[in-house]
Formats: sequence, C-alpha cells, structure tokens
Amino acid sequence: MRWLLLLLGLLLPAGAEAQPSTYRQTSAVLAHYGDVAGMKLDSPAFRTPEPSLTRQDAMFEFLDVLTRESRHARLGSLGRSTERRDIPVVYLTAEGLSDPAVIRRLGRPVIWLMGQQHGNEPAGGEAMLALASALGCAELAALLSKITVVIVPRVNVDGAEADKRVLASGADGNRDHLLLSQPEVRALHAAMQALPPDVVFDHHEFSVAWRWVEKFNGLQGSDVMILEATNPSIPNGLSEIARGLYRPAFEEAIRKHGLSSFDYVTTAPVMADKRVSLGGTAPGIARNAFGLRGAVSYLIETRGVGIGLQGYQRRVSTHFVLAKAALEVSAADPESLLRRVAQARAATAADRSDLIVSHDQGEREVDLPLINAESGAPMPTPVRMIDSRDIRPVDVRARPAGYLVLRATAEVAERLALNEVAVREVAAPVTLPVEAYDVEHRQTRRSRESINPDQSLRVQIRRKTIDIPAGTLFVPMTQPAAGIVAAALEPDSPGSYLAAGVIPMTAGETEGPVYRVMDPAGLSFR
Ligand SMILES: [Zn+2]
Repeated sequence: MRWLLLLLGLLLPAGAEAQPSTYRQTSAVLAHYGDVAGMKLDSPAFRTPEPSLTRQDAMFEFLDVLTRESRHARLGSLGRSTERRDIPVVYLTAEGLSDPAVIRRLGRPVIWLMGQQHGNEPAGGEAMLALASALGCAELAALLSKITVVIVPRVNVDGAEADKRVLASGADGNRDHLLLSQPEVRALHAAMQALPPDVVFDHHEFSVAWRWVEKFNGLQGSDVMILEATNPSIPNGLSEIARGLYRPAFEEAIRKHGLSSFDYVTTAPVMADKRVSLGGTAPGIARNAFGLRGAVSYLIETRGVGIGLQGYQRRVSTHFVLAKAALEVSAADPESLLRRVAQARAATAADRSDLIVSHDQGEREVDLPLINAESGAPMPTPVRMIDSRDIRPVDVRARPAGYLVLRATAEVAERLALNEVAVREVAAPVTLPVEAYDVEHRQTRRSRESINPDQSLRVQIRRKTIDIPAGTLFVPMTQPAAGIVAAALEPDSPGSYLAAGVIPMTAGETEGPVYRVMDPAGLSFR
C-alpha cells in the first residue's frame, strides 16, 4: 500500500491552482467568434434559448431517449467514477449492437471518440452528444455501414459536475493512461480492451487568456489546435495515417466553415520561460498512450477554457465538424484504413531497432497566432517552440526480446493488458543470462504538464545470469503495443512502473526486479 500513497502524492497537481474566474472577452473580440452557420446541433445545451452546461442527469436523459429511438445507438456504462457517477458509453453500429465481442467481429474500423477528460472543457463533451445523435438518428447514420463508432462523451463526470479540470481524486486523468491508477481511466481502458480502437480522437479545450496574456500580452486566437501522438516510439505508419489522412480532412473542414487552426501548443507556468511546447512526449498522456498501444491518435482542442460559455455554439460546432470530417474520411475507404493500421502494428511487432529511452526535443521559431485582447486584431507573435516532432535521442538502448518482471506480477500484467499488451508466464525454472538494472533513485520532479515523475530513476545496465522461478512474468517486445511495454518497464522512462512504485523496491535495494532478456530461447511458457 506504500506505493499507493506515493502514487496519490505524485498524481496530485503541483500547485493547488485556484479556480480562475471567467475572463470576459470584449465585444470586438467576440465578434470574431460568432456562430458557425448551417449547423444542426442536437444536444441538451442547444435545446434551450441560451446554451447552458449539461448536467449529468440531463446527459443521461438525452442518451436514454436517443438510444431508445435509434436503430443504431446503444447505451452502455464504463463503470462508476470516484464519486459514484455512471460514465456513459455509446456504441454505434449499423446493426444496433451492444456486445463489444460481437461488434468486433463486424471487422469494420473501430473509432473511439471521447470528450471531457477535463471537466471544465465542456464543448468537446457536448459535441460528442450531438455527434451521437447525428450518427444514431440523423444525417451521419449512413457512415455506420463502413465504420464502428464508440463515443464516451464525458470521461470525467465528477469534474464536469463541479466544472473542474481534474478528477474527484485531484489527479489529472489525461496523464494517467500508462499508469492507469484512476478508476475513470481504468474503466475507459477496460472497455477498450473489449473493443480495441483503430483510431482515437480525444476532445479538449485550451485556455484563451491565462498565461498567454501574462507572457505574450495577447489572447489565443485559433478556433482549434490539433496534434497527433508525438513520442519517439509511436509507430511510423500510424503517424503517416494521422498526418496524411486525417490532418488534411481536418484542415478542409476548418477552411469550409471559416474557422482557424494551429498545431496544439502549451506553455510552462514559469513566467520567464517565453517558449511554447508542441504538446509533449510523455507516454502517459492519452494522445501518446493510444498511439503507443497501436491506434492512430489525435488531440483536438477548441478555444474555451476560462471563458465560460462565450462562443459556445462555435466551439461545439468546431468539435462536431472535425469529428464528422474524420469519420467521413475513415468511411471513404475502410479497407485501406484497416490495412494500413495492421501494417503499422505488424511493423512495430517486427521492429528490432534501438529503443530511445530518453530524448531532447529540437526548438524552432514559429509565429504564434495570438490576437489583440481589446480589438481581436491578429497579433502573430514570434516565439521559440519546443518541437515534440523533432526528437533528439539521448539514452538509446538495444531493444530486448522482452522483459522479466519478478515482483507485483499480477498488478503489472493487469495494467499492461488494459493497454493491449499480451504477457506470458514462465512455465519452468531456468537459469538465463539477462541484463539487470542498477537503480539510483533521484529527486522526483513534478509539474502540471507531467504529474508522473519524469526521470526520477537513473540506471546502469549490467549483464548477469539469474535463476528465474516458474510463474515469472515475461513481457515480449514482439507485439504491436511494444511502445507501451518499454515505457512501462524501462525504469528510467518517464512514469515507468518502477518510478511510480507499481513495481516496489525496498529501501536500500539497488537492483530492480525487472530484467531485460535479449535471447528468450531458454524460456518456456504456460
Ligand atoms: Zn484538456
């Protein structure tokens, strides 16, 4: 239980950030963010004269009616949140199926869309409700003969009810997708285990004023910021689908509706640091974890945090039209999509190249599309951007055939399985040459953007021969989710299971209970 306490400490956000009051945009600024024309958004927020936040009971009432009236939409539950709220999931198939095993056998691309991992980012969640309606009963239903769609409108049901970013536990669920310590995130991955995604879209909102005003004296101007998975172990084939198929579809929808877009950037809380970062590379971020497990993965963020419901129709419409564009381009050639995803996954399973355990990122100059806070006039601002697509390897290691885990094996196996990792159990005792880790604990570093410990361990690798008892866990790297395996089990990878204490070490112990196996020929499995 010691690790659990440690874990809770690590997951709590660094500075307890006060809930900021709503930033009032001037009427001149608001004039640039009017309603998107020609939209038919069928969701609770738009059934009243003025849009309002959709409460939990209103969301369920809406989904109950929708799934009763629809021939295609079926309502399920991921489980319960920390505060015991039900987390809904909507399965959308041409046949109106609800059993994930049966849906899987349809053999169509499985596309997951989720909203409101952060409770105070309502537009993504609201758009997911409108999308469920359009697929279940209206103009998008025809797509379901080509693709299967799964919608989780509101991952963080407790945070949404309190209009708060974090989960009821205080943890940032969006950073928990490798560790899987939070009930809401585990519930999501359990449902994905039953119906694995080929493509995932994660819908968020970003801050309009906040540090942008403090650091750069302008407001964020883009309607939407977008980013695919960015981590050195993301399969190339998946990145190519993201950048070559989905991004052009997004940009066309953005142009068609008179919206504006940019790559997703954020900036550190340190005022003196005037750089911005293109997303981040941490494997525990949802966007990256979905890529590492073998799905095409995108983050879609609208301009919405800290401004209440200003411009709400435009924000929800933006999520809706991008999701629609993504589903349409998926349905245009589902066989090719499935084939390309399968090829990318097979290439990862067959990959023998070195692992990048730690890396630096290049920097380059970009014009940040800010706007004047009074007039709304464009204020393109040159800044240095830390580029998560420009990876400079630092610690590089030969890729092992797999890892042996000698402690907390059930816990490790369960968490990895939730991320689509297959594991084996050693059948007979054997003596085998391995690579061991001498582990040095270092100060844990925490920040809002990476709540899991970054590089809190340093290791030295040492060859030795060990006696391996029957029942030892073996996690092969020859599988599509190899990126998850290495992120979880290389001790000095950010947020690794050793660093997070999922695999415990006793005080004074220097050798980690995880070993690299370069040649598994001597192992037999149950
Ligand atoms: Zn968010």
